Amino acid sequence: MIEILDAAELTRARATGALVADILDTLRERAVVGTNLLQIDAWAREMILGAGAVSCYVDYAPSFGRGPFGHYICTAVNDAVLHGLPHDYALADGDLLTLDLAVLLDGIAADSAISFVVGATRRDEDVAMIETTRRALAAGIAAARPGARTGDIAHAIGTVLTGAGYPVNTEFGGHGIGSTMHQDPHVANTGRPGRGFPLRPGMLLAIEPWIMADTDELVTDADGWTLRSATGCRTAHSEHTIAITADGPEILTLPTRAR
Ligand code: MG
Ligand code: MG
Repeated sequence: MIEILDAAELTRARATGALVADILDTLRERAVVGTNLLQIDAWAREMILGAGAVSCYVDYAPSFGRGPFGHYICTAVNDAVLHGLPHDYALADGDLLTLDLAVLLDGIAADSAISFVVGATRRDEDVAMIETTRRALAAGIAAARPGARTGDIAHAIGTVLTGAGYPVNTEFGGHGIGSTMHQDPHVANTGRPGRGFPLRPGMLLAIEPWIMADTDELVTDADGWTLRSATGCRTAHSEHTIAITADGPEILTLPTRAR
């Protein structure tokens, strides 16, 4: 199913996007050396419920996870990359943390992910990998203009990722979003320009390049949810929800203070 939002729904989508972005922004500040992943989850729960929003994750039970997820945010550390199940772990100096959050506010969902290094120790390769996903995200967003196709976004993302020397996994990628978190069309992180679904004003897309330093292969953790790199290498992920408008792409998940 592909939804086309009207002007009133787009206004609501902006509010959801701002909420997701501001929660992530707050959690990024609070995630310091010693912070427990379960505390991050508790903070996310408090902010989601405090805003009158609904978690897209708590009851989420897709075929690829041991559902329901049961938590409010995905926390992925170092070799973990997607669907990171919060657990009893205190962040260490130099950990590469990814937070991925999706909520529903007033009937419209938004989805965003950020990766960052915790503490003072920054490995150059981690910083470069995070920066590459951000550049790929920016390139993908720039390609998301009305009349373009999902393949144009995929091609723009893939060009940045492979150009920087990273393998690209094609099992998980971006997606349509609207009244639910995951909808058609699929937006792969590599692909051929001119192919795929045509973009129209009113569509919402979650665009989300993610990479692993030296592999495209995932393994599922014993927790039944967390996906890790098969080689144990580190990973990074950047995601925004955008609206396709007649004037071009509009990023909905920018933190309020960054606008
Ligand atoms: Mg996400
Ligand atoms: Mg997503």
